This record gives sequence, C-alpha cells and structure tokens, in this order.
Amino acid sequence: MKIAVLKEAADGERRVAATPETVRKFIALGAQVAVERGAGDAAACPDAAYAAAGARVAERSAVVADAQIVLGVQGPEPAALQGAAPGAWIVAALDPFGHRDRVDAYAAAGVEALAMELMPRITRAQAMDILSSQSNLSGYKAVLDAAAEYDRALPMMMTAAGTISAARVFVMGVGVAGLQAIATARRLGAQVSATDVRAATREQIQSLGAKPIFVDAVEGIAGEGSGGYAGEMSDAYKAAQAELVSAHIAKQDIVITTALIPGRPAPRLISDVQIATMRAGSVIVDLAVEQGGNVEGAVAGQVVDRHGVRLVGHRNVPSRLAADASALFARNLYNFLSTFWDKDAGRPVLDAEIGDAIRLTQGGRVVHPRLLS
Ligand code: NAD
Repeated sequence: MKIAVLKEAADGERRVAATPETVRKFIALGAQVAVERGAGDAAACPDAAYAAAGARVAERSAVVADAQIVLGVQGPEPAALQGAAPGAWIVAALDPFGHRDRVDAYAAAGVEALAMELMPRITRAQAMDILSSQSNLSGYKAVLDAAAEYDRALPMMMTAAGTISAARVFVMGVGVAGLQAIATARRLGAQVSATDVRAATREQIQSLGAKPIFVDAVEGIAGEGSGGYAGEMSDAYKAAQAELVSAHIAKQDIVITTALIPGRPAPRLISDVQIATMRAGSVIVDLAVEQGGNVEGAVAGQVVDRHGVRLVGHRNVPSRLAADASALFARNLYNFLSTFWDKDAGRPVLDAEIGDAIRLTQGGRVVHPRLLS
C-alpha cells in the first residue's frame, strides 16, 4: 500500500495533508509513504523531517506513481493523479459543488474521490471531521485578525494615564468557529455577546461567559437543527433579526460573522446601513466571505473601508495558521484511514454509512446522490 502526499497547487494554500507525525503512523500501519518535495515547506514541515519519519521525498510523478491513496488538502487537478494505481483514492476537501468539472474528470480517470468535508456529523466521525478542526482555528484567527486591524486594545486597562475600556465583541453564528471566537475574545479581555438561529447555542454562549442576543419574537431553530446545521430562515425571522442586530451593532467595536447554511449561499446578516451606524475604527471580520458573505461590502481576499469601519475578508483563514491547521487536518485524515484499516487487506475498507456519505466517484462514474439529482 503506497500513500502519496501532494504539494498543494492552489493559490495561497499553505497547508499540507500529512505531517511527519502522521507519516510515522501510516508507516506503522504497514504503508509506504511518498511526499512531494516541498509539500510541507509553508507549514513548518521541511522535507528532511518527512525523510526522517520514513517517507520517500521526491518529485510529483515519482510520488504519485502506483499510489493507492493520494492525500491532499484541496482537490488536485486530475492531471496531477496521472500514474496512480487504477481505482486509487484521492482523499481531500474536494469542494464537489464548486468544482463539479473536476469530479467528472476524477470519474473519467478511474480514481475514487472521497470528499472529506462531507463526513457525517456523527459521534464516531468527530476525530475525522476536517470542517470542525479547521473552523475552530478560523474562529481563533478571526479574533486575532480583528485585533490586528483594531487601533485600540481589547482588555480593560487601568493605567496611571487613565482607563481604557474593554472592547465590545459581537459574534454572529455560534457553530465551531463562533464558539472559538467567543472563547478567544474572552481570553483577550473583551466584553463578548453572540447570536445564532439555533436555540441550543444560547446555553453554550452563556457557558463561555458571553451574553446571548436572541430573536425571541419569532421562532428560530429548536435544538440542533438537521445534523447540527442551520437552514434558511423565514422572512419574518430575518426581519426580526435585522432589527435586533441594528440595535446591537451600533454599540459594538468588533463583529465576527461565521454564519453558514450548508449547500446555500451564506445568509446576509449585516447591511451597509448598519455598518454606517458603527463608530469609526470598528472592525468586522466576515469568515463567510468566500461563501457569499454575511456582510454587505466585504470582499474576499481584501480589507476594505466602509464608513470608517474595516471589513476584513481574508480567504482560506485556516491556511493563515498553516502549521496547526495542517497538524489537525493530517490527524483527521489519519484517524479516518486508520479507523477503517483492514489488517488482512493491508488497506482501508469503508463501511456504508461513511463511505456513501463521502464517496463522489467509483468505477469510472459519479456516484454521490447529491451530484446526481
Ligand atoms: P456552520 O459552519 O454550518 O454554521 C455556523 C453557524 O452559523 C451555525 O451555528 C449556524 O446555526 C449559524 N447560522 C446559520 N444561519 C444563521 C443566521 N441567519 N443567523 C445567525 N446564525 C446563523 O456550523 P458548524 O460550525 O459546522 O456547526 C454546526 C453544528 O454542528 C454545531 O452545533 C456543532 O456543535 C455541530 N457539530 C457536530 C459534530 C459532530 O457531532 N461530529 C461535529 C461538528 C459540529
């Protein structure tokens, strides 16, 4: 069993899909590992560390040749898989709805494409969940990015020259990223409030020492919603939420938005009119900017000024913490493959619950139901 680790080709992608730690573990399972030269350079994993862990470090064609499993962070161009064993697995965040052409090309090339972001949110798959591991780091980094753009301090400081008051931070969307953003802003001494459409988050917000800001007039999503995710809200809910946000946002110094709806564009939570009510020097970080954006006027890949407020729209936030993001991503992939490792077969064999959820292509065809309908 040969596992190939690719150097990421996407613009600005600094992460790597295996670390020397996971290479060692794959070798302990009985696999051979080949790593493309320079694959971990931007994530504090030099070639020498992979070699010391037992990997063969080589050029792409030699790495991919006869590999049965190819690991990536983002999906590679199908041409990069040329020479892999017939039916080889490509395991990565494949963005199947954004890169449908590529999925077709994987099918045509006869590879089995496994989209790690489609991993079901079930207890036994938590350790394989790349969305959680990466979102957690994004939530943390969003607060640091906000603090870096903010021309004031976050904690209250009592100095001989006078008192600086604590920054008010508002977190919109309290999933994995939002919870970590709340915790990070609290650690930095900010006064934190947060909101979500899922009623279950109220208690989580409080347990982190932040203030819940909720639409009470119109019902949100009771419990955890479908698979823990939010859905599109009614017009009445949206109107009540906009009113609530308008009243609250004018008093905030930093807003972090993280709201996503699976399979749909991100919900618009902050309008230009609302931004104009914030005081000059305030900062808004839109973590959903690449999915359509929660904030009117936020631009992917840029920091823009609107009414004296800085709108921060960094792309690929986990990649901004490439070493830790890679370490966790790599462990997710190892946890996935090792959980299903069949000792007799000397390779992983998936069960139906997880296999059917993440498998996009097999036997030369696209097989995922969400891509067929
Ligand atoms: P997500 O990234 O899909 O969305 C982020 C947050 O935005 C969610 O909390 C969502 O409710 C919220 N949101 C959506 N529309 C909104 C709106 N209009 N206004 C305000 N907020 C809005 O979510 P996520 O981080 O992937 O987590 C979703 C849930 O899944 C959480 O409850 C999490 O604990 C759960 N989860 C479970 C597992 C598991 O059991 N394996 C793993 C990870 C996450």
